[in-house]
Amino acid sequence: MGNEAGYVGLGAAKAKQMREAIDKAITEAKLNVIPVRLGCGSWECRCGSPHSVPVKTRGKAGSVEMILIPAPRGTGLVAGDTAKAVLRLAGVKDVWTQSKGETRTKENTAKATLEALRNILAYKTVKDWARA
Ligand SMILES: [Zn+2]
Repeated sequence: MGNEAGYVGLGAAKAKQMREAIDKAITEAKLNVIPVRLGCGSWECRCGSPHSVPVKTRGKAGSVEMILIPAPRGTGLVAGDTAKAVLRLAGVKDVWTQSKGETRTKENTAKATLEALRNILAYKTVKDWARA
């Protein structure tokens, strides 16, 4: 696992009390800052402010695949509770999600969501390489 930060935060999401899990995850997220690149990748919005993801991105963990799709302002987080918690922590306000696999497995769902967020950075890297 390349990202211990995400892993730890996700482990906390398994706590019985959702509230407690979120608080714990917030604390851990502050300690282990994962750079998440936000943006407005929605062709219906194009406001340019960082309220969504800049590109359609996907992440995989175990059997779960999570796809994040840029959404226009005001859409909110169209996601299951687990993905929502991760997205909220990441600062995403509007996004559509598609998921495949066993999303009842919270740990994998959270990991896949985080992986999708991390993969945004990969897109950026590829772009930068192309430019260099
Ligand atoms: Zn926008």
